[in-house]
Amino acid sequence: MNSLKVVSGVGAMTEHDYDENTKVAEEPIILIVDDDRLNLNLLNDLLKDGHRIRVALDGQQALQRARMEPRPDLILMDVVMPKLTGFEVCEQLKREAATADIPVLFITARTSEEDEIRGLSLGGADFISKPIRPEIVRARVKTHLTQLRQKRELQVMHQKLLALSIQDPLTGLTNRRGFDEFLQREWSRCLRSGSHLGLLMLDVDHFKCYNDHYGHLQGDDCLQQLAITLAEQVRRPSDLLARFGGEEFVCVLPDTGLEGVRQVGQAMLQAVRELNRPHGGCPGSAWVSVSIGGTSIVPHGEHTTQQFLQKADQLLYEAKRRGRDTLVVSGSRQNDVAGQ
Ligand SMILES: [Mg+2]
Repeated sequence: MNSLKVVSGVGAMTEHDYDENTKVAEEPIILIVDDDRLNLNLLNDLLKDGHRIRVALDGQQALQRARMEPRPDLILMDVVMPKLTGFEVCEQLKREAATADIPVLFITARTSEEDEIRGLSLGGADFISKPIRPEIVRARVKTHLTQLRQKRELQVMHQKLLALSIQDPLTGLTNRRGFDEFLQREWSRCLRSGSHLGLLMLDVDHFKCYNDHYGHLQGDDCLQQLAITLAEQVRRPSDLLARFGGEEFVCVLPDTGLEGVRQVGQAMLQAVRELNRPHGGCPGSAWVSVSIGGTSIVPHGEHTTQQFLQKADQLLYEAKRRGRDTLVVSGSRQNDVAGQ
C-alpha cells in the first residue's frame, strides 16, 4: 500500500491511506470521509500529528475502510456525498456489530436543526460545521477520543474485576462461584453434544488436625502447595481445577469418560504423595494426603448438576471410609462403563 504524505496538491491524492502504516501502532486511527479532496487534505494536516489517518472519498470506500482491521477509533464523516450520503453510511455502520461502536462525527455545511436531529438519531456522536475551524475540529476529536479511552479503560477494569470475583485469593485457583458457572456451562454444552463430562472431588485428609498442629499459616501454605501440585496434573486448557471451599478442591474434565477421570485422579493422588509433606497432626497419618471421588456422566434432562456433584461427593466419602489417601471412581447408573 502506498504511504503518502500529502501536504498539499490535490493531484498527489490517491484513495490510499495517507500515512497510517508509518505511524506508531498505539496512536488512534481516524477515518476521514469526504468527497472533496481539499477537505481531506485540510483535515489530514490538522489531525496527522498524534493520529493514524485513513481516508475515503465516498460512502462505499468509507464502509470498506471502517471494516478494515485494525478498525478506526473515530470517523469524521462528510454528509453530502454522491451515491451514499454520510447519513446512509453511518446507518449502515451502526447496523454492523463490528463497526457499531465507532463514534461518527459528521462534518457538514448543512447545519439545520432537522439535519442534526437526523444525524444524531442515526447514531452519530457529534456535528462539526463547515467551513472547518481547525481548533474546533481538534478539540472535538480530542474530546471524543478521550471519552473512548476512558470507556475502554472502564471495560478493562470491569474484566479484571470479573476475573477477580471468580478467583480464590489464597490459591489463585477459580473459586466456588467460578466453578459453579463453569460446571453449569459445560453441563449444558455436553447435554447438547451428548459427550461425557468428568468430575473429581478432592479433600485434604485430616486437615483440621494439620491446622491445629502446625497453625493456620502453615495450613494456608499447605493448601497453596497442593493447589500448584494438583494444577500440574490438569493438562488440557479445557479442564478446570477450582477450590471448592476450605480444604476441598474440584476438577471438571469436559469430554472425559470414566477412564480419563481415573487417570487424572490417580495422577493427583500420586503427585500429592510425592510431595512428602509431613503431617504430624494425627496418629496414623505421617504425610499430607488427599482423598478423591471421581465420576463421569453424559448429561441428560433428568439429571441436575447438583446430583452430579452429590455423586462425586459420595465417592469422596467412600474414599475416606476406605482409609483415605485413596481414589474411588464410579459412573452414574445409566453411564457406568467401568464401575469402580
Ligand atoms: Mg461533500
